[in-house]
Amino acid sequence: MSFLDTCQLYVSASGMIDDASAGAAAFFGLAPGALQGQLLLDRFDASSRDHLRALWRRWSEASAESGGPCEHALTALRADGSRMPSLGIFRLACDGEAGRFVLRLQPLADQPAPSGTQLPESFHDPLTGLPNRRGARELIEASLQMGVQAAESVTVVCIDLDNFRSINEGYGHDVAEEVLRCVGARLRQRALGLGRVCRSAGDEFLVIRRGSSSEEETRRLVPQLMRWIQEPIEVGGETLIVTASVGVATHDCAAGSFDALMQRAGYAMSRAKRLGRNTWYFASRDPIPRLQHQALKTRLYRALEQGRLALHYQPIVDLRTGEVRAFEALMRWHDEQLGEVSPAQFIPVAEESGLMGALGAWSLEQACRQSASWLATHGATMPIAVNISAVQLQRGEFEEELLRILQEFSVQPGMLELEVTESALIHDSAHLAGLSLRLRELGVGVAIDDFGTGYSNLLYLKHFHPSKLKIDRSFVRTIASTDEDRAIVRAVIDLAHAIGARVVAEGVESGDVVRMLGELGCDEAQGYHFARPCAAQHLSAWLARARPGKALAPMA
Ligand code: C2E
Ligand code: MG
Ligand code: MG
Repeated sequence: MSFLDTCQLYVSASGMIDDASAGAAAFFGLAPGALQGQLLLDRFDASSRDHLRALWRRWSEASAESGGPCEHALTALRADGSRMPSLGIFRLACDGEAGRFVLRLQPLADQPAPSGTQLPESFHDPLTGLPNRRGARELIEASLQMGVQAAESVTVVCIDLDNFRSINEGYGHDVAEEVLRCVGARLRQRALGLGRVCRSAGDEFLVIRRGSSSEEETRRLVPQLMRWIQEPIEVGGETLIVTASVGVATHDCAAGSFDALMQRAGYAMSRAKRLGRNTWYFASRDPIPRLQHQALKTRLYRALEQGRLALHYQPIVDLRTGEVRAFEALMRWHDEQLGEVSPAQFIPVAEESGLMGALGAWSLEQACRQSASWLATHGATMPIAVNISAVQLQRGEFEEELLRILQEFSVQPGMLELEVTESALIHDSAHLAGLSLRLRELGVGVAIDDFGTGYSNLLYLKHFHPSKLKIDRSFVRTIASTDEDRAIVRAVIDLAHAIGARVVAEGVESGDVVRMLGELGCDEAQGYHFARPCAAQHLSAWLARARPGKALAPMA
């Protein structure tokens, strides 16, 4: 049923119908537009009116966030005098106007229910008082419908508590319930005005946001939600600390559906779990459908086995001298059927399917083999930066494997740098702090990749002494035009220098940006302005042509 076919009424706090869908007029047998300005109560029989009044009273007393959807059987009066037994689904309007609500009517002609009966399945979770999964469906579907005209989007933040089963088993059911109640109450109070909170399953909560709010705003909100959850919970004489794994998905209202949003937010949440829990993950805007995910996994496995993956290299240029300081190794996969598959697509598949360990070891080996080959043919080599997934870092054997590979290809540790994203660093920080210390002693550089897009708590920098910070290209791209981004880049440069790290700007595409970065004191840069990533055989030519500040035609 499309929105136009749906009978939907928007009712002001005074009980006046101030808007109605096209299907609503047809439902009541009225001309289009005839419902606007009528009193809602006039369109129902006497017993339905009593129920509507009672509901109204309850809602005017309730605070906005507790007014989740509910449903009643009602009898509507049609223009020809006939009665239409209907299911009425109520919810507060999401547009923030106090007391305004939405009533959706569905004919119950096949199974008339006695007027006013509270239907057995409710929209509320009795434990937390929050909307349950059905309530969430109502809220999401309504938000999608209402945001179409304004070209808005709906974001679902899916929060799953980590290791909740161990609380249930270790402390008992009552304590576990108290934890859920407490988390629900915290989220509801603190996320007020930021989104609607629901409890969609056992230990799973949702925050639903509608509007034109930017991805950056959500990226700021999510770590905040995680910190609120992490505050100690006093229960039954115990102090418990609970963490959560969070997945986020956004859909344009015109294209979204409840199922698609929930599937993607759930997928993102399970990725956050795989990344080691107590972290979050944003589903990309063009997701890989489930089926394709399976197919990709199988093809990737074969590509790895049959040696059909490659590493391409992108130069990282010293902004003062214009010389190449290092190369970043980026994985490339050309599939006969799918064509070029981006690492942004297949790395998550590898992480989810247990392939990342083998894939990561392959890229480390391949990079070290390349380094050894340059040394053999040119008598000199260049440091290579290899991207390392959080999943690799968690493997107990990572360090041993790294040492083995360095030794196997006789690569000096100083010729290798590991690029790790911020979100990989926020969990298990004790283990990672130890690892980074040992890597530093060994002489292997550690760069924090995509800096600025991850966790906002900078405490981890203190424990994890990086040799480099790589500023994400979302900030770099706009430094010439946006004061805020320029200020952020300047602050990151100062921060990096204060902790003794160098700074690399990613995604540099123009000479203007190069000049501005130089003025801001940025050390190094990388991007299409200098060169696109290309196969190893093109690099010696590139090195010969590199000159300070000079843009080169993209290679390969
Ligand atoms: P990253 O490590 O931040 O790599 C930089 C990405 O930006 C690369 O995308 C690169 O091609 C692209 N790029 C470089 N300069 C520019 C520019 O001027 N403009 C624009 N628009 N883009 C630029 P790519 O190769 O698609 O890789 C995407 C991400 O996939 C990488 O982001 C990295 O996180 C991951 N990745 C790639 N190779 C590996 C790998 O071997 N292991 C792991 N774990 N992750 C990898
Ligand atoms: Mg990188
Ligand atoms: Mg990056």
